[in-house]
Amino acid sequence: MSTKYNESPFLYKRRPTREVKVGDVGIGGKNPIRVQSMITSNTRDTEESISQIKDLIQVGSEIIRLTVPSQADADNLPNIRKRMKELGLHVPLVADIHFTPQVALKSVEWVEKVRINPGNFADKKKFDVYEYTDQEYEEELERIEEVFTPLVLRAKELGVAMRIGTNHGSLSDRIMNRFGDTPLGMVESALEFIKIAERNSYKDIVVSMKASNPQVMIHAYRLLVSRFYELGMDYPLHLGVTEAGDGTDGRIKSAIGIGALLEDGLGDTIRVSLTEDAVHEIPVAIELVKKYNQLWLATEKAENGFKNPNQNEREFIQISNQSNLKEFRDPFAYSRFYSRETNADGLLFGDGNPVRVETTYPFLAESTSETILSDIQKNAKSGRIPDLIHFQIQTEMDLLVASEMTKLGRFPLPISITLSSDLQKDYEGHLEEIYKFQKWNIPISQHYLESQESFEGILEIVTRFAKDKRSVEWMFGANELNLVPIVLKETQKRNIQNVCFSLKNADLIQIRTLAYHLRESDYAIVLHWQSEDWDDLLYSSSIQVGGSLLDGIGDLVRIEHHESPIDSLYLSFDILQATRLRLTKTEYISCPSCGRTMFDLQTTTAKIKEKTSHLKGVKIAVMGCIVNGPGEMADADFGYVGAGIGKVHLYKGKEIVRKGVPESEAPDQLIELIRENGMWTDPE
Ligand code: SF4
Repeated sequence: MSTKYNESPFLYKRRPTREVKVGDVGIGGKNPIRVQSMITSNTRDTEESISQIKDLIQVGSEIIRLTVPSQADADNLPNIRKRMKELGLHVPLVADIHFTPQVALKSVEWVEKVRINPGNFADKKKFDVYEYTDQEYEEELERIEEVFTPLVLRAKELGVAMRIGTNHGSLSDRIMNRFGDTPLGMVESALEFIKIAERNSYKDIVVSMKASNPQVMIHAYRLLVSRFYELGMDYPLHLGVTEAGDGTDGRIKSAIGIGALLEDGLGDTIRVSLTEDAVHEIPVAIELVKKYNQLWLATEKAENGFKNPNQNEREFIQISNQSNLKEFRDPFAYSRFYSRETNADGLLFGDGNPVRVETTYPFLAESTSETILSDIQKNAKSGRIPDLIHFQIQTEMDLLVASEMTKLGRFPLPISITLSSDLQKDYEGHLEEIYKFQKWNIPISQHYLESQESFEGILEIVTRFAKDKRSVEWMFGANELNLVPIVLKETQKRNIQNVCFSLKNADLIQIRTLAYHLRESDYAIVLHWQSEDWDDLLYSSSIQVGGSLLDGIGDLVRIEHHESPIDSLYLSFDILQATRLRLTKTEYISCPSCGRTMFDLQTTTAKIKEKTSHLKGVKIAVMGCIVNGPGEMADADFGYVGAGIGKVHLYKGKEIVRKGVPESEAPDQLIELIRENGMWTDPE
């Protein structure tokens, strides 16, 4: 199978697609990446639906979806349309359909797009285990074609678009039995429906491959696009991480999954699914697409030749000029990029060690060690404590004090340092102090490389340093990738073992290029992102650091917000949690809720989190309805699923173990269930 899944893994280029019109909003083609959301009201409630549509338009949603679970909901669509017209609300609507082909046929008359889920459009989910013969499988496909074709023909006739939206958690029994619960199964599930549509010459299709686990989702989209290249299909993609949850965790998961694919040049419209009011989803979506829509604008201008390029355009020219490197990974499955074990005085990173966390604290002499000790105590139980402390040493006096404190054992953890540019100029004069630290981060300023002599000098010291089990980090700026091969060659020539490399504030494609350069030398890689703007740090590090980790790249994470070391420490661990590379807290999978939800999902999720957030590594799903909830809970250990007004079913894995529990008792019964299964620990 070809490994081609985008235009290039080493330079940014948005994948060309056909344009699909959703009303007057184009998706794919020459259009920017569109942002969209979904209202959570009951579709039969016209006024509430209108109020939510109005709010979403106001925050910038370009397309709006609503759930249409029954004939009665479909019957109310004309009223919603009429009211929208009266109020001058102009936005394309999408009808979300599960299990009900007849409802789809009714809805298609009143919307600009219909979303169907191939896992349940014509199949009931029974979780049956059954080996289908080829003939039985074919017969199933014929049955689906019969049910699906009328919708295709009517959509074609009306000029209505369609999203074929596969979800990891709701694959049909037929797909599950043949392909398993895998990205391949997700792709095949969508292709079966696309092929039926194409047999009817209908191509106004957008495709999605959502999962609550960003890793599964990224692999499924890449695999889908690789099949599209093989089959000559050019359908636009709708990106989303489903059941991402709320708050920072929901934003991080969404940024990793959606952002990593946008970096790959994939994605034409996105929806961020949060267990929060829908209006909160759009600002996050806008933040995620911002950079890529600027790049898209630059692409448009590039086609006509840049005149006086601005900063973004210059960056665009730079990344577009990178040479064509060869793929060196399997982009469809996770595998850790191999790096040698590196030792910073007993702290091992690289090779089979977990990805380590390095946290930057301001160096304030005496008070620094107190702050670090108090942060360690606070987080000891969860294990969310730094593996390595990093100081940026500004003055000679600070260097002396810090090295003295290190010598006296005043820091409870290994320390790494970076010297200010003034101190770097005389590293030889400060060698005695530098030598007391376990890791020395050396920014590759022109200062070292400007003469062969100064470069030789530092290489000699690094050789000695590394031999004594102190590690050295060669630090490059994101735009200094061209210097990596020069330093690498000399490092290898001297057989220096204990060094690692980093690129500060680098995009995923740049980090991938660094890994490409290091693929034979196997030096460990530090993922380093710094910003004093918290939102920028949250989204950029989630996309670039999280995306790199899911590419299997990165041995040590250093995320810096100088004013708040503790928050950057938590952010590092939250990214590791979302990539599932290091679990230090409970994992929640909660749906965004919709018109099918029978309880206040946000309050319930908050209540459950309050009682269970100390359960390291346990996965708990909180889902709004019995129709899609059980299928969409993915690999949760326990499920809390709405089963009618005031009633909840509790699940252990995919099995219902307590039925119709009154809502008021359900959180406590969930705890009992976790306890019975030996996964409960009392909070501190
Ligand atoms: S699981 Fe949640 S979002 Fe999905 S259909 Fe049910 S209530 Fe709606």
